[in-house]
Amino acid sequence: MTGQRLPTTENSAATTVAGAAPPWRAAGLRYFGYGFFLRGRFGVPVHKVSLDAGFTCPNVDGTVARGGCVFCDNRSFSPSRRLPRATIGEQLAIGMAKVRERFGVARFLAYFQPATNTYAPVERLRPLYEEALAHSHVVGLAIGTRPDCVPDDVLDLVDQLAAQRYVSLELGLQTIHDRSLAWMNRGCTHAAFVDAMARARGRHFEIGAHVILGLPGESRDDMLATADELARAGVDSVKLHNLYVVKGTPLADDVAAGRVILQSQAEYVETAVDFIERLPPTVVVERVSGEAPPDYFVGPAWCLQKAAVRLAIDAEFRRRDSYQGCRWAQTS
Ligand code: SF4
Repeated sequence: MTGQRLPTTENSAATTVAGAAPPWRAAGLRYFGYGFFLRGRFGVPVHKVSLDAGFTCPNVDGTVARGGCVFCDNRSFSPSRRLPRATIGEQLAIGMAKVRERFGVARFLAYFQPATNTYAPVERLRPLYEEALAHSHVVGLAIGTRPDCVPDDVLDLVDQLAAQRYVSLELGLQTIHDRSLAWMNRGCTHAAFVDAMARARGRHFEIGAHVILGLPGESRDDMLATADELARAGVDSVKLHNLYVVKGTPLADDVAAGRVILQSQAEYVETAVDFIERLPPTVVVERVSGEAPPDYFVGPAWCLQKAAVRLAIDAEFRRRDSYQGCRWAQTS
């Protein structure tokens, strides 16, 4: 990834010419937010609709581990508890109605979200993805998965779809540090991400990475090393959130017993701004806060106030008079 991102026919918001301020800065933003990206890419407001296609996960079903990640409420997608799902078309209709009512948008990204959404043979994946793309109000796909679950034939399928339509492949990186991945029972190491990026980069689809800040045992420098690696790896987007706790998970027990201490909002905001400052200005920052249904949520309480977290991050950028990429230029 360099400071120059080639424009697609529609992707004017992402275009950065070396030496010129990126469009999001001209719009008064401190980082390349997702809403700004979507408006530039599609010309109209777009919102994601989450779909559950009934996948499980290799560290839930025992292929690489059992029990899943320590923070993941994976009971609903353990193999023994998978229930018949509504069809993709039915889920889209329900999800679009809700999003339309709440946000007033008319175009959608079909987001294959829970579990590992490439964890199946291509013969099963293709009709699911194609059914979502066939809906007249769907402008593209987002596919959440693990870096160790993207074999070449799956990447070829995603590439074929992305040659015609917008597709983002979201890889759950979380951290580049293997000791943290072992702590969370991830069932893979950072080498899987490096390998996935090497095979996925340069295709038609965009590549996103999910990152968690505040993992136990990670110093500020450890977290910023993950930012530097993302800048080097050439991802197109990043989703950030703090480590938060969902009921019934091993992490909930660790936090209750005092074995894991969660970040305060002030700590998270400072680290998130440090992190974003080190990303290239062309990387879309899709998310800066976590999401969990309040019924399942344990803490920290502050991260349920997503708007307040976003405002605090903006305020910290203004206090520093800094912006995304200001430290990337210094470290590249
Ligand atoms: S890889 Fe993702 S879906 Fe699987 S257990 Fe971990 S967080 Fe949950």
